[in-house]
Amino acid sequence: MTFREKSSSASARNAINGNGSSKSSSPVSKKPVWEYAPSPEAKDHIEIRSQYDLFIGGKWQKAKKYFATVNPATEEKLSEVASASKDDVNRAVLSAERAYNKVWSKTPAKERAKYIFRIARIMQEKAREFAVIETMDGGKPIKESKSVDVPLALAHFFYYAGWADKLKYAFPNQVFAPVGVVGQIIPWNFPLLMAAWKIAPALACGNTVVIKSAETTPLTLYKLAEVIQEAGLPDGVVNIISGAGDTGAAIVNHPKVKKIAFTGSTDVGKLIMRSIAGTDKKVTLELGGKAANIIFEDAPIDQAIEGIINGIYFNQGHVCCAGSRLFVQESIKNTVIKKLKHRLKSLRVGNPLDKNTDVGAINSKMQLKKITELVNSGIEEGCSIYQPECSLPERGYYFKPTFFTNVAQSNRIAQEEIFGPVLSVLTFRTPKEAIEKANNTQYGLSAGIWTDKGSKIFKMVGQLKAGVVWSNTYNRFNPASPFGGYKESGFGREGGLQGLKEYLNF
Ligand code: ADP
Repeated sequence: MTFREKSSSASARNAINGNGSSKSSSPVSKKPVWEYAPSPEAKDHIEIRSQYDLFIGGKWQKAKKYFATVNPATEEKLSEVASASKDDVNRAVLSAERAYNKVWSKTPAKERAKYIFRIARIMQEKAREFAVIETMDGGKPIKESKSVDVPLALAHFFYYAGWADKLKYAFPNQVFAPVGVVGQIIPWNFPLLMAAWKIAPALACGNTVVIKSAETTPLTLYKLAEVIQEAGLPDGVVNIISGAGDTGAAIVNHPKVKKIAFTGSTDVGKLIMRSIAGTDKKVTLELGGKAANIIFEDAPIDQAIEGIINGIYFNQGHVCCAGSRLFVQESIKNTVIKKLKHRLKSLRVGNPLDKNTDVGAINSKMQLKKITELVNSGIEEGCSIYQPECSLPERGYYFKPTFFTNVAQSNRIAQEEIFGPVLSVLTFRTPKEAIEKANNTQYGLSAGIWTDKGSKIFKMVGQLKAGVVWSNTYNRFNPASPFGGYKESGFGREGGLQGLKEYLNF
């Protein structure tokens, strides 16, 4: 790692991207500071085709329409991908059905395991390529793609490969069967990882798959299609397509799709529930969140500060379980705010391919607009904004790491999911008040507790209405741990044994 001396007087693009109304409170330092030298990840080993067709029945098939996918860090076009029509979805589902009836349902479980294991091994060999493409297509820092997205995706394939021939031990004394053709729809924040969460247990349980990527991040799924081909998975067992909401709706509404696994917004989750009402389709929905990260006065404060940073600025806050509402015990509020400001100043925002970048690009222009609108609503509602001085790249979609104080529970920024690097800081006095405030949301996906007292953790965990509660850590994932929500964060679990159950009929 090399450092160089740099004057930090470079003007910041503006505090609230695009509207120029800076409310940043920190003065611009004129002192020379030691800066990291650029350390871009090489991309000459990456192969991105100029066009991706649909991966149906083990072959690349043309679509009638294509759309561009851009690098949000530079606004440059990376490739064109197929937009699957209703007919294309039908072809994909029929291919999955054929593969299920003719091959996969007759493939012994231990053979299924070998295929899944092989997919994991080939992905592992191409880990660097996957990481770079994930970063280029989605805007996330390369250090996160390398250390979180890709290894966790692999871990899910390895984990579920292990279960494929042991299902009778997972569910002893029960009679069960695969569901058949499953339809999977994923979001843009963790494309490869969400694909792994869904494809691996589906295959382990003996189902065949039609999966659709999100509009802005189709590329790693098509890389995965190449891996699946290389692994020799029988044709049609996994079909990978791209397209927008209507493509997703065509999957949901296809009568031969027996189970829907969806990760995305609560609004679309509700639409899906309406569409399948009256059918016998199984469904799991992993939707939005507005998690409470609760810091008690007896917490290890410096560790908690790292947990707050990881909780909300990881992946630019494009995380459904992000710790976007910080509840600080009143007695330590000033200390926490002071330390948080100090820590925010050291976050490096910029080129996601730079190995030293902490906060990369916002995934799309549309998302940047949404974040900006919600941040402006916070200012208009009288909350106090803090953003560190930092310069943003001239091109691409970026937003400074931000936090708000003087936030009321009724403010939009305390209620609505921002899905960006924006934290709302609130306070509490007693554990009871912390619980009440934390549960005062339509969501219930995750929460964090920071305290020195184990008994307090157990008491709080039992009362928090959240599917996942981390204590003295945040944003930790493991394929053996179930993940999922309550209330408007959805239902059903992914990961662990619970994740297998969703792909079987009992
Ligand atoms: P976000 O707001 O995070 O983009 P969405 O819920 O809009 O979340 O998108 C998540 C996924 O759902 C994407 O793959 C998107 O194409 C898909 N999608 C959007 N609308 C529908 C729909 N009506 N039915 C099924 N899938 C949809």
